[in-house]
Amino acid sequence: MSTNPFSLSGVKHTIAISSCKGGVGKSTIAAALAWELARRGFKTGLLDTDIYGPSLPSLFQLNHIRAEINEFKMVVPVEHKGLKLMSFGFLLGDAPAVMRGPMVANYIKQLLFQTDWGELDYLLLDMPPGTGDVQLTITQLIKLTGAVIVTTHHTLSLVDAARGILMFEKVKVPILGVIENMAYFTAPDTGKRYYIFGEQKAKSLSSRFGVKTLVEIPILEGLCAGMSDFQKNPYIQEAGDEFVEAIKHIEASQSHLKDAVFKEGQVVLTFSDGRVLSAPAFDLRAHCPCAGCVSEMTGQRLVDVKKIPSDIFPREILPLGNYAVGISWSDGHSSGIYPYTLFEHLKH
Ligand code: ADP
Repeated sequence: MSTNPFSLSGVKHTIAISSCKGGVGKSTIAAALAWELARRGFKTGLLDTDIYGPSLPSLFQLNHIRAEINEFKMVVPVEHKGLKLMSFGFLLGDAPAVMRGPMVANYIKQLLFQTDWGELDYLLLDMPPGTGDVQLTITQLIKLTGAVIVTTHHTLSLVDAARGILMFEKVKVPILGVIENMAYFTAPDTGKRYYIFGEQKAKSLSSRFGVKTLVEIPILEGLCAGMSDFQKNPYIQEAGDEFVEAIKHIEASQSHLKDAVFKEGQVVLTFSDGRVLSAPAFDLRAHCPCAGCVSEMTGQRLVDVKKIPSDIFPREILPLGNYAVGISWSDGHSSGIYPYTLFEHLKH
C-alpha cells in the first residue's frame, strides 16, 4: 500500500536521533538501533537527513545503490535486511549538494514525506547535528514521538546535549533518553575500563533535566568496521531494550490529538485522553503568529483584522509536532502554526 504524499499515516512512531555536535557517533548509533529494531521484527525505517555528507549508504555498504521513483512519484526506500533506508546519498550519489540553509529543511521535508515508507512501527530520523533552524524546523514539521540524544562524555558534548534537550523541550517533544557513546575503553589485555573523557558526567544531565541515560556504549572496534558488527552486540541490544521501553512509557503517558474539526465557528481539537480545546476560527486567524502576520522585529501584529472574512473557516487542520496545529484558511492563508497554548488563551 502506498501512503499519501505529505503524510506519514502508516508510521506509528517517528523518532529523532539527534546530537548537537558532529562526530559523536549519531549516525552509527541510529543505524545500529534501526538494525536492532528490525532484527526484533519491528517494521523499521531509517532516514539519513544529512544533505551535505550522507553517511547511511556507506554505513550499510550500499554506495552503488540509487533509489527509484514509483508510479505515484514517491521515492521507494532502499530495502536492506528488513530495513527501509533513505538518504540523499541514494539520490545524489557522490555529487556534493549545493544548497543554502533555508532550503535544507525543505529538502529534508520533501525526502521525508515523499518517500513511500508504507507501514512502519518505527521511523528513525538521523538528524543533522546541531540545534539551529534546520533542526528546529524539522521538529516543528513532524509529529515526533520522541528524541534520543547521542553524546559523548566530553564536557563540551554534554553542554551541547543540554542545548539539544532544551530545543526538544521547547517544541514539547519528549526525550526518550541519552545514549552516551564512546563512554569508555576496555583494555583487551587487562579488561580494565578507562573513562577517557571522564566518568559519569552525564549524571548532571539526568539531575538537571530528568533525562535518562539509555545506555553507555564503549569505544568498540567493531562499530567502525561496518554493519555486520551490530549483530549480537550487547550494547546495541541494551539500547534496543531501553528504546522500546521508553516508547512504551511515552505511549502510556501521552495524549495525542485524535480529531480536529470546525464546528459552529470554532476550531475544536479532541485529544486521546478526552481533553478538548476549542477557539473561535476568526480569533485564531486574527492571532496567526506567522512572520507575515506578526513583525519579527517588534512583535507588532501586521494582519488587518478588518480584511479577515467574518465567516472564515479552516480548509485543513494538520497536527504539527506535539504542541500545535497548522491551519489552511478559507482566505488562502496557510503559513501559521497555532500552538495549543494559543487555543487555551483564546477559548471563550
Ligand atoms: P556522527 O553521525 O555523530 O557525525 P558517526 O556516526 O559518523 O558520527 O561516527 C563518527 C566515527 O566514530 C565513525 O568513524 C564511527 O565508526 C565511529 N564510532 C562511532 N561510535 C563508535 C564507538 N562506540 N566505538 C568506536 N567508534 C565509533
